Amino acid sequence: MQEILFLLLPIAFYSGWHAARKRYKEHQEQQRQDVPQRFVQGINYLLSEEPDKALDVFLNYAEVDEHTANTFLLLGNLFRNRGEINRALRIHQNLVARSDLSKAQRTAAMLALGEDFFAAGLLDRAESVFSELLKDDPKHADACEPLRNIYEQLHEWNKAIEIAQLAQQRSKVDHSRLIAHYYCELAVQELQKQNLFRAEETIKKAAKSYPAASRVLVLNADLAYARNQREEALNFYRQAIEKDTRLIGMLFNQLVNKFNQKDELESLYQFIQQTFAKTQDAKLFGYLLQLAHKLGKLSDMRVQVGEYLTKGKPSLNTLAHATDVLSALWQEEKVCDIAQLQTALQRLSASQPDFQCAQCGYKMHGYLWRCPACHHWDTVSNV
Ligand SMILES: [Zn+2]
Repeated sequence: MQEILFLLLPIAFYSGWHAARKRYKEHQEQQRQDVPQRFVQGINYLLSEEPDKALDVFLNYAEVDEHTANTFLLLGNLFRNRGEINRALRIHQNLVARSDLSKAQRTAAMLALGEDFFAAGLLDRAESVFSELLKDDPKHADACEPLRNIYEQLHEWNKAIEIAQLAQQRSKVDHSRLIAHYYCELAVQELQKQNLFRAEETIKKAAKSYPAASRVLVLNADLAYARNQREEALNFYRQAIEKDTRLIGMLFNQLVNKFNQKDELESLYQFIQQTFAKTQDAKLFGYLLQLAHKLGKLSDMRVQVGEYLTKGKPSLNTLAHATDVLSALWQEEKVCDIAQLQTALQRLSASQPDFQCAQCGYKMHGYLWRCPACHHWDTVSNV
């Protein structure tokens, strides 16, 4: 009898194995059917604007494979883009906490989580997520840019320099101009603290990173002024304006306050006069008139003002200063060519657009029923 039982053992083993295999297959099949059903249910909740129910379905998913992980990521990003940061955070946190993610999926989930924290204004938490990513994978470059943004917002210029240099090495993007700005920010802080030597060293680093930076010239001027080297400072300011005439708008008031001696103002006036003659840059003319007013040289400017009003490129700001000159000349000499001013105003008016689209801000000269930029109807109105 025992022999018979012994002979029957492989058959029992086979039938048991077969039954177990069948049950396993049925279970797998059931799961396969469950997964799309629950998935479709989650999507339905999303479409019917019941995001919390959708969230529950997705968060209670037992296992995550490659496709569901990507869907989770996209869903979280969708919530973030809609401004629903808490929901995005819940999804991405849930994803990061799972143990069955591949390395690439974990990295993508961490990046998304960092972006959620950044969007929520939780900069310190965003920083720790991105830093952890960099620590895990020092060759990873995607975390560098968001980290650089965070350090910029926090005004942590040393860290911003470090990360920008790292990004430059890894992704071959050129950050030399940015790095120069970060050094300049540090130099401004040193200047404010009167640490003039350290300011000088930092300005040198900025110049080394981006030799063409006009901000370096302005800072060299500020440094020379702080050291009471007035002539050198004025020279640096002049070089900066010559290099980039836009800087006159930022520097003019500082210049007339700092260099308020008559000979210094005279030298400044000569410099702006020469630069204007060279560049014919309308921005400079208004400042030239202000200096002429200050120095009592309005009569000298009469011809130049006339030429500017009839032929130059009029701007509202410069016309206001030209009117000041004309009014002062009228008080001094009772002579005023109002026709020149009228011509300039007409030219300025003709160059200004009269209408603007309320939808996108596009400006235009004539009225249009449909905006040519954003294609909306009835959105154009007077400026
Ligand atoms: Zn528009």
